[in-house]
Parts: sequence; structure tokens; C-alpha cells
Amino acid sequence: LVELDHVEKHFGALHVLKDINLKVNKGEVLVIVGPSGSGKSTMCRTINRLETIDSGDIRIDGQSLPQEGKALAQLRAEVGMVFQSFNLFANKTILDNVTLAPIKVRKRNKVEAEREAMDLLDRVGVASQANKMPSQLSGGQQQRVAIARALAMHPKVMLFDEPTSALDPEMVNEVLDVMVELAHEGMTMLCVTHEMGFARKAADRIVFMADGQILEQDTPDAFFEHPKTERAKDFLSKIL
Ligand code: ATP
Ligand code: MG
Repeated sequence: LVELDHVEKHFGALHVLKDINLKVNKGEVLVIVGPSGSGKSTMCRTINRLETIDSGDIRIDGQSLPQEGKALAQLRAEVGMVFQSFNLFANKTILDNVTLAPIKVRKRNKVEAEREAMDLLDRVGVASQANKMPSQLSGGQQQRVAIARALAMHPKVMLFDEPTSALDPEMVNEVLDVMVELAHEGMTMLCVTHEMGFARKAADRIVFMADGQILEQDTPDAFFEHPKTERAKDFLSKIL
């Protein structure tokens, strides 16, 4: 469903993605781990073209990423993204946050979009907050709204970049629980996270990155119990 072929990227002199090759099948849940600065966020951001690439190819459902314009906007709508900072529209209600893009981009009618938004908000446990403003919600609630907002576009794949690392500890699990549920429902997901409990519970595959390269790709059991590279052993010794 998502394919990266020989993807290269530099930030000036910094070679941040080095020959990245990655295939994500439909329904697969990948957890991307690795030291700070290894290129995890950059790789995620190239998948919906928030970052350009120097060379290589990225395909979603067999289609290469368009450079710009309408085709790019359409393809972007297939890829839901949830970041560390919740990025809700501060001056819109929770409900409007979720319905805005479906109405504008997908041309859904308002009543229908609102009905579906309420279902999604219910699924992530914040339906009772629908008429509040983002600032009235806790971080964990806002992040669950951000997930509902992404799902409202019916994405083919969801990207998560450290969705829980800005949250107070007691709110981490309420967001991870929603992600685990999504994974079990068959959503295709790429998740950058330091939550190794989540990785063990939900990941089909762990992708270990260091210095802009993918050094290992394996099942959680194989990766955590028998890391192959020194870099991965070193990384795991620091976080486990
Ligand atoms: P972290 O775990 O800290 O989030 P990461 O693996 O997500 O790290 P990236 O954010 O992808 O790493 O960054 C990879 C490298 O690229 C880092 O050295 C970073 O400083 C650099 N970098 C990222 N974005 C830019 C940018 N817009 N301009 C220049 N350098 C950048
Ligand atoms: Mg990052």
C-alpha cells in the first residue's frame, strides 16, 4: 500500500535519508524506532510530501506521489497524520475541527459530515466535548480529536509521529488505546513512538532507523529479543 524505493534526502550538507526502502502492506502496523535525529520524522513527512525528496520514488496504492497541485492534495487526503503537537484549529469547535476537511475537500454535505464526526468522536471517547473549543480539552482528549479528525477523511494509511510524547503520563494510555483499537480494526499505520509496550502489543513489524538508514526490520519479538546490529543493541539497552 505504501512503498518507498531508494529514497534519498539531504538538508543542505546533512544526508538525512539514505537509500530508504520500505514496503507497507494493507492492514500492517509498523512502529518506527531509533535514536533522536535518525530521520524518523523526516521519513514520515515525505510520505505525505510535507518534505520533498531528492531522488527515489514513493507510491501510495501504486501511485507515485504527485509533485504539486490538485493531484497532490487528493493524495494527501489518503494519508492521515497525527503529530506530537495536536494542531487542532484553536478557533473552531471540536465538531468543526472534524468536519472541516470532509466538507471542504471531500465535498460531503454538512449534516452527513456531522453525523459521521459524532460517530468518530464517540469512538475515541470525546463525543460529549463536541461543542467545546480545543483549549477546553485535556491534551489526551485533544490528541484523540486529532485522530478522529484524520479518520474523518477515510485515509488509506495513518501516520503517527510521537503522538503521546507531549502528553502528561496519565493521558498516554487513553491515546495508545485508541491506536491499538485502530490497529486491530485493520488500519494501515506507521507509528513513530517510544512507547515500547504499544510496539509489542500492536506492531506487526518494527523498523529500526539510525543515521538516516533503516538498519533492521523485524517482528517485535525478534527485534526486542534478538537485535542484529550493534546500533540496535545499544539503542535497546538505553530504553528498556
Ligand atoms: P527525534 O527522535 O528527535 O524526533 P527524528 O528521528 O525524528 O528525531 P528528524 O526530525 O527526521 O529525526 O531529523 C533528522 C535530522 O534532520 C536531524 O539531524 C535534524 O536536525 C535534521 N532536520 C530535520 N528537519 C530539518 C529541516 N527542516 N532543516 C534542516 N535540518 C533538519
Ligand atoms: Mg522526530
